[in-house]
Amino acid sequence: MYDPQTLMQLSYDISKAAQGEHTAKYRIYGTATGMKNSCEMGVLPTRNFQEGVFEDINLISGEYLDEHHKVKVISCAQCPIACEQMSIVKTGPFAGAMTGVEYEALQANSCNLGISDIRASIQLLEIADHDGMDSMTMGVTISYAMECYERGVLKKEDFACKSYPEGLEMRFGNAEAAIALAKMIRDREGIGDLLSNGTRIASKIIDAERGTESWKWAMNTKGLECPGYDARSLKTFAIGLAVGTRGGCHNRSAAYDPDMKGETNRFTLDETRGKVAAESEEYAAVYDTLPLCKFIRRCFTGKADRSGAWPTIAKLINATTGWNFGYDDVDLIGVRATNIKKAFNIREGWKPEDDDLPWRWKHEPFTKGPAAGVVVTDEELAYGKQLYYKAKGWTEDGMIPKELLIKLGMPDVAEEIGV
Ligand code: SF4
Repeated sequence: MYDPQTLMQLSYDISKAAQGEHTAKYRIYGTATGMKNSCEMGVLPTRNFQEGVFEDINLISGEYLDEHHKVKVISCAQCPIACEQMSIVKTGPFAGAMTGVEYEALQANSCNLGISDIRASIQLLEIADHDGMDSMTMGVTISYAMECYERGVLKKEDFACKSYPEGLEMRFGNAEAAIALAKMIRDREGIGDLLSNGTRIASKIIDAERGTESWKWAMNTKGLECPGYDARSLKTFAIGLAVGTRGGCHNRSAAYDPDMKGETNRFTLDETRGKVAAESEEYAAVYDTLPLCKFIRRCFTGKADRSGAWPTIAKLINATTGWNFGYDDVDLIGVRATNIKKAFNIREGWKPEDDDLPWRWKHEPFTKGPAAGVVVTDEELAYGKQLYYKAKGWTEDGMIPKELLIKLGMPDVAEEIGV
């Protein structure tokens, strides 16, 4: 540690700022407080992303959770915010289930499954958390299976297992069936074995066997199940999800933020959005590299921007290492991190067509809510990708020029994958 005293003072200042108005919602209700807002904006995944508003939102909101199920808040080590809402089920068939509940996990395992009973959602999340499954991927995979059932691609008997030898009626809203399928996925039992691969692989195999087109409602990008902000009417975020190196991830692209905060016109694209998407991704990469929790992002100046955060982050780095980082050096962390991730993908066989969105987001508009009638057209997606590649300094095909990698201090990477 180069300068412990300064580091302690900086930590104290950040902790104090993290107790302010910009984190109040996380401290009181946790991230689940976003459920109502997403519903009002028409971007809340509902029944496998078929709609963006849920009729029983008041029964699955952060406020409802707080009133009926929250027992305490817990935090990651040393965090002064403590956003995790530890919640318990006190009544009904799932009594005793207990786990931390946050927005992404909750939406994937409630409205996205057509489930209004938040007690069933807590039970689903407990299974995922205790047994090491990603709750978002699990929820979206179950919602894919439910849609397959409702459209006749999968039948009741396809869901036969030890506990339900006759199979399951895998309808949206059937909490008992969703919980049984979560356990089958966990145990790789019956069709759970296939579904444990996630929606991209499962749909490919199911479609090949049955001559169906269930890939159209397999809600993933690059094999990662979609997060809880429907991108049809969040067009900057749609770019971020399409180009995401690990697939569309709300933690790697924070471009839903400007779209949802009204800093952009979320229903259209314009020439500024490639830069917005690229900068949001680089911004997130700086936080992830240190690492810092992104929930303090508004604590510096009230805006989640570089001018607020970078000077403090530079001081943190300098006090820790004795280096002499400034604004531009912090900026470079995000640029380098995003380029090396893309370089990894290129080396492993990435193709331009891999930067894509789920079919549904491009072809099926919602019928209800403020985002009704909107999709991301193929033309918009192609335009958005071009804007993003240009903002990154990449070629029109999304490849990284050799000179750029050399300028970023990565001559070996330039040699291997640069063009
Ligand atoms: S570090 Fe972030 S995610 Fe963890 S408890 Fe604090 S605010 Fe929540």
